[in-house]
Amino acid sequence: MKPYLKRAWAEVSLGTLRRNIEVIRGLNSPETEIMAVVKADAYGHGDEHIVRTLAEDCGIRCFAVSNLDEAIAVRGFAPNAEILILGYTPPEYAHEISQYNIIQGVVSGEYARALAAARQGVIRCHIAIDTGMGRIGLKHGTPRECAEELKELCGIEGLSVEGIFTHFAVADSDSPDNISYTDRQQQFITDTYDALAEMGVKLPCMHFMNSAATCYRNSPRSCFSRAGIIMYGLHPDISLDIPAGLEPVMELKAVISHVKTVQPGDCISYGRTFSADREMRIATVTIGYADGYSRLLSGKGEILVRGKRCRIVGRVCMDQLMIDVSDVPAARAGDIVTLIGRDGDDCITADELASVYGTIGYEVVCGISKRVPRIYVD
Ligand SMILES: *Cc1c(COP(=O)(O)O)cnc(C)c1O
Repeated sequence: MKPYLKRAWAEVSLGTLRRNIEVIRGLNSPETEIMAVVKADAYGHGDEHIVRTLAEDCGIRCFAVSNLDEAIAVRGFAPNAEILILGYTPPEYAHEISQYNIIQGVVSGEYARALAAARQGVIRCHIAIDTGMGRIGLKHGTPRECAEELKELCGIEGLSVEGIFTHFAVADSDSPDNISYTDRQQQFITDTYDALAEMGVKLPCMHFMNSAATCYRNSPRSCFSRAGIIMYGLHPDISLDIPAGLEPVMELKAVISHVKTVQPGDCISYGRTFSADREMRIATVTIGYADGYSRLLSGKGEILVRGKRCRIVGRVCMDQLMIDVSDVPAARAGDIVTLIGRDGDDCITADELASVYGTIGYEVVCGISKRVPRIYVD
């Protein structure tokens, strides 16, 4: 292991990642292959180590990213993999798409034509169908109309259409209304695929499962399970359990730099939002919002010190924050504290932290900043 500055760091467990992949394989039918979603630096976990582990140890052959820069990076880590760009690449980069043998997601018919016009080689692509997410893709009233436009796009010279895909908006909800919404999204894309096949165009693949669908409505008709958040062991939505065996891959740690006793009336941090109402022991911790530990956790977040929860007092600063360690008399400078992860019998997950300030675990892990070294453990 490389030496690193023991100030604020994230421990990423590649062993946990490997076990999560096995759990996800157990959810999928034999028709469905995992397409590992490693956009945004593998959800903040570090794409190099995540992709190499998935490709070399887990036998993952397909990856999804958000843009061309991420795709080219992944190509370097997994030379033989299939790589799908889920979002937009400006057509002037058509040459790079074919040069790196990337599969481009197609956001519209107009975009398909622009790519084909700008290309030099052949552009491999999967065409997005907007079945209810309202973000990208062909949008039609009926599957037959959609299939007709697809057939036309399949005829564009220089474009190799290898599949169609769609994205679910509420697959992470168990309300009956949302379940039927997702049913309709799924029905639309499968009907479109079948209508196109009837017109004589049998595409190699169709895919629609994200993490939530993989957990709660797995279908053999999706040739890929585009698994993102569950691979990292977090919940698509905190209110629904995820399958047993999926565990968080990332922990976030920092150290106590200083411990002091304060008297009633003493203020802590910017804005004097906190003042002691009794004698207290306050510890300063070496992490702040510039590390991606949100300032919205001021006065609210909890941190594990020697296995006990300690509340943040006052505002989170850019590089430091203060916690109440009155109930942990042994706390002292140099102690390693846990902001995300397990310490003794207690555990704070990224999902829990997210719920404290009104976001989702995805944003917490993606938001851990570049300043925080990722340390890889088994
Ligand atoms: C990000 C993304 C995914 C992965 O979503 P998770 O909820 O993390 O599984 C799948 N498909 C598309 C199109 C995405 O943009």
